[in-house]
Amino acid sequence: MEVTKDIIHLKESDSHQFSLKLYSHDNNKTQFLMESSPAIINTIRRIILDETPTMAPDTMVVHQNTSVMHDEVLAQRIGLIPLAVDPRQFDFPDDQINEQNTIVFTLHAKAGDKPLNVYSGDLQYTPIGNQLERIGNVRPLEEKILLLKLGAQQEIKLEIYCHKGIGKVHSKWSPVSVCFYNMLPIFKYGETKADWNNRQFKVPLQQLSCPMGVYDDLEEIKIDKCTLCRSCLDTGVQIMLDDQHYLFTIEPVGYLNGLQIMQEALNVLKIKAHLVVDGLM
Ligand code: SF4
Repeated sequence: MEVTKDIIHLKESDSHQFSLKLYSHDNNKTQFLMESSPAIINTIRRIILDETPTMAPDTMVVHQNTSVMHDEVLAQRIGLIPLAVDPRQFDFPDDQINEQNTIVFTLHAKAGDKPLNVYSGDLQYTPIGNQLERIGNVRPLEEKILLLKLGAQQEIKLEIYCHKGIGKVHSKWSPVSVCFYNMLPIFKYGETKADWNNRQFKVPLQQLSCPMGVYDDLEEIKIDKCTLCRSCLDTGVQIMLDDQHYLFTIEPVGYLNGLQIMQEALNVLKIKAHLVVDGLM
């Protein structure tokens, strides 16, 4: 066992276990308890960021733009609008635009004598073929994203083509704002021990203080809140880290929630693993 300063780093494990448990979930954040090696966990993180598909505005046809904003800048802004549409219902684009691989929006706004704000909610969905029956109405996830301000009498008229893509090509296709993991500590006080599996830590309360509130409820301490600030080490608590237990956090920004993103990423990982195995045979 190697001791560095005050936190104890346990010897690297050669275990090949993999387990995944849901820790918390809402629309803005999903957290999993993961047991595996950092290599596997980082692979999942990279797949989520780079290879989990979403739909995003991709090509823009400008019929009219008399605003002060250049076409390229406007295209950048529109490209980042998250769409409320399920990417699993679409194919990746090919040479032909069709109802299976493209969503079309139009945007036409003209200011009168006063300036006019143009928002993401002003995009008009233009269904192709039977899209309306197949997927229903499509709209931006947020209606109040400011795209540009038109001065008096200025006008824009655009067609916007949205395609399925992955974050490796452009970050606008990334399904998350952030995706990260941190090592989960193991707490020890005398013979009492708490870890990611057993969060009960019955030790004399007056001994413990934590600015993050980790020890607020000793029946179930909040291990995920620990920032490893070391303050509690003065009270006799020992903190240990191993390389097998992590809290994995996903903060989604598009249609897919954290659970669906994890499922999609694991499917991609499975396909990659099959390719490797097939290549060896
Ligand atoms: S290391 Fe800091 S954040 Fe973690 S439990 Fe101790 S006092 Fe709290």
